[in-house]
Amino acid sequence: MSQNVYQFIDLQRVDPPKKPLQLRKIEFVEIYEPFSEGQVKAQADRCLDCGNPYCEWKCPVHNYIPNWLKLANEGRIIEAAELSHQTNSLPEVCGRVCPQDRLCEGSCTLNNDFGAVTIGNIERYINDKAMEMGWRPDMSHVKSVNKRVAVIGAGPAGLACADVLTRNGVSVTVFDRHPEIGGLLTFGIPSFKLEKDVMIKRRELFEGMGIEFRLNVEVGQDITMQSLIDEYDSVFLGVGTYQSMRGGLSNEEAEGVYDALPFLIANTRKTMGFEALAEQPYLDMQGKRVVVLGGGDTAMDCVRTSIRQGATNVICAYRRDEANMPGSRREVKNAREEGVDFQFNLQPLGVEIDGSGKVIGVKMVRTEMGPADAAGRQQAQSVAGSEHVIAADAVILAFGFRPHSMPWLAEFNVELDATGRIVAPEAANNAFQTSHPKIFAGGDAVRGSDLVVTAIAEGRKAAEGILDYLEV
Ligand code: FAD
Ligand code: SF4
Repeated sequence: MSQNVYQFIDLQRVDPPKKPLQLRKIEFVEIYEPFSEGQVKAQADRCLDCGNPYCEWKCPVHNYIPNWLKLANEGRIIEAAELSHQTNSLPEVCGRVCPQDRLCEGSCTLNNDFGAVTIGNIERYINDKAMEMGWRPDMSHVKSVNKRVAVIGAGPAGLACADVLTRNGVSVTVFDRHPEIGGLLTFGIPSFKLEKDVMIKRRELFEGMGIEFRLNVEVGQDITMQSLIDEYDSVFLGVGTYQSMRGGLSNEEAEGVYDALPFLIANTRKTMGFEALAEQPYLDMQGKRVVVLGGGDTAMDCVRTSIRQGATNVICAYRRDEANMPGSRREVKNAREEGVDFQFNLQPLGVEIDGSGKVIGVKMVRTEMGPADAAGRQQAQSVAGSEHVIAADAVILAFGFRPHSMPWLAEFNVELDATGRIVAPEAANNAFQTSHPKIFAGGDAVRGSDLVVTAIAEGRKAAEGILDYLEV
């Protein structure tokens, strides 16, 4: 690293350049260009190498951030990638999609006064570059322990669990109902945030490590849970949460009202060249006035997908103000640049329909922010007499997700909490073990919808729990 300890003053934080707006609005490709080697070295050099790195503590997988920043600064990319993989199973993904402003970068010592180190983009660079240079995990020292584990779900939780188990000599088979690995990384998060070949490369890398993927296989339909319990020494559930929440609006089932996730999944299947599913047809927003209800990351992905499909007008309506919006600030800014019209303090009351039952608008009432609730979050209160209708040809509901029902799990005595989440405590004797000793679980299915990096953290810890259980 440079001898100049005030490097962070002389050299400003720089984010990678974005693709031209006109292209961004029509293409399903990542909007950020990668950093150049020179930019990475210079930006990594801004790290103060604090004695007690807050970034590392705030990162849910506790990446050795200052250490790999130093290696990146010195151009030692392969070593940086090795170190990065000691704590993270999908670092190139986290570098792209983590809300860094709330996690590592938000707690960087330089954040408030000088601009945080661009940790996420350097993490992305290190790992993309290393793979490009031919780096693959060295498995030559791994000895088989003669144990087999089935992982249900190839999302970040399942993949992280499979990664750690495989590196410890366990033979792992991952089952997923989708035709590609990634879970929501592939079929939820659109390509303008995470291009699909990132997961394809990752699958090839995992396969090279010895992980077997059985795709297009739905447990409970194509294969029974009992057969997995019988055939494997342990089973990990990384099945996510897939029940879309509804708003209780009148006419919510009308033609032209869509749930966010099926809309995004069908769009991704089309961009990846997969056939549309009968139960999830491709929904085209071209030439439509679209209103998206919600203010989280899913809502941001829906508005930006609608723009790229050629919608004439896209409104994001959220019941609180901008300061109380849960979505990543970075993605709100990107959506605004791409032409999304944000309308805050609007509470939907119902969907307006024409005589044939088709959507023509959303009835809204204005809100103002009231006092904070017990969780410290300000509540939106309706303003009497402010009801009005926003015209729309399509309405997309992005109110979040709750656990879906899993009848195929019912007979295995796996305890669920009142909201349907799988009970698998981190502090259990064998971390993330469920009430069935052979079954472990982690990710959204256990904690509720959250983040990619928290799912990875839980998948990795559950793998440690499984190793303890298997006594290897
Ligand atoms: P999932 O990713 O949901 O994976 C579960 C997998 O299990 C799926 O592949 C599913 O097909 C499979 N499965 C389920 N049941 C079965 C079965 N019976 N048989 C076979 N396979 C089965 N997080 C971020 O950090 N940054 C973001 O920018 C971000 N954007 C998001 C955008 C959207 C639209 C959504 C919906 C979420 C977003 N998230 C984001 C959240 C993040 O994607 C999730 O928290 C994370 O993917 C959860 O990982 P998981 O492995 O627990 O579950
Ligand atoms: Fe930051 Fe996420 Fe990478 Fe951790 S995994 S260093 S939180 S970008």
